[in-house]
Amino acid sequence: MLYSIILKAFHYISFEISGDLLKTLSLGGICTDFSCAKCCKNTNMFLSLSDINRISSQGFNQNDFCFKNEEGFFQLKNISGECFFLKNNKCQIYDVRPIGCRFYPIIFDLDKNKAVLDDECPLVDTIAEKTMKNFENDLRKFVTKILKEKINTIL
Ligand code: SF4
Repeated sequence: MLYSIILKAFHYISFEISGDLLKTLSLGGICTDFSCAKCCKNTNMFLSLSDINRISSQGFNQNDFCFKNEEGFFQLKNISGECFFLKNNKCQIYDVRPIGCRFYPIIFDLDKNKAVLDDECPLVDTIAEKTMKNFENDLRKFVTKILKEKINTIL
């Protein structure tokens, strides 16, 4: 299944995150209202090269906040069980946080090739099915971008 997704990746136009999308793509308002940071603990969040560049441009060293996992994807680093950027239960880079963090709790199930809700999120019931569907296409493009970036590094 992974290979079929990768093959489909070549048919997508490169997905660039525009400034507008960065501002509007945010489901996290309710999370900050409740000071919930469950998803920032032991995070497995993947990063695109744009995420890494955007965060690095704020003065952070890439080696401090991310690593390449065994499959060759970049991920956020955890320090003592929390995302490198979580301090006092708050994201220190909220305005420039990774795109995957903005989609959460909507995640992409590669096996099912569709967006799903992560039921580990305590507020998952607040996300309507319609909202998830509205974000599915952008999330699929974003996942495709990450797959494509990984392929480009091994070709
Ligand atoms: S970057 Fe911010 S929002 Fe994303 S996991 Fe880390 S602390 Fe949480």
